[in-house]
Amino acid sequence: MVTTVMVRSAKVHPMSSLGVRSTKQRTAVAAALAELDDFRSTQEIHEYLKDRGDSVGLTTVYRTLQALSAAGDVDVILREDGESVYRVCSTSHHHHLVCRQCGHTVEVEGPAVERWADSVSAANGFTSVSHTLEIFGLCSNCSH
Ligand SMILES: [Zn+2]
Ligand SMILES: [Zn+2]
Repeated sequence: MVTTVMVRSAKVHPMSSLGVRSTKQRTAVAAALAELDDFRSTQEIHEYLKDRGDSVGLTTVYRTLQALSAAGDVDVILREDGESVYRVCSTSHHHHLVCRQCGHTVEVEGPAVERWADSVSAANGFTSVSHTLEIFGLCSNCSH
C-alpha cells in the first residue's frame, strides 16, 4: 500500500516542474518585450533572450508571442518584408511609425484617419469595423 503511494507521487512531480518552467519562459519573453520597446520578430526576440542568458526555445518564444497577442497584451504588425513583429503598446487604439532599418517605433494617433474610416464604412453600410495602419520609413537617426 505504501509503495503504491510513493510511485504515484514520483509520477506527478515531473509534470508540475514542467509547468513551472514554461511559466518562467513566458515571463522571460514578456520581460524581453518590455525591455526592447521596438517591434521585433520572433527570431530577434529569441536571439535577445539567448544573448542575456535565458535559454528559451524558438518554438516556445513563437507560441508565447501568439498567446500574448491573442490575449491583447502585445501588438503584432506585418513588417514590409512579410515578417510578423511584436511590441508591448498602450492599450488604446493607435497607429505606428516604424523605422524599416532599425525597428525604432513611435506610437501615433490619427484623428483624421479615424473619421475617414468611420465615414467610408458608414457610407458602404459596414458595421463592427476595425482597421490597422502603420507608417514605415527611416527614423531621424537612420535618415542621416
Ligand atoms: Zn532607425
Ligand atoms: Zn486608427
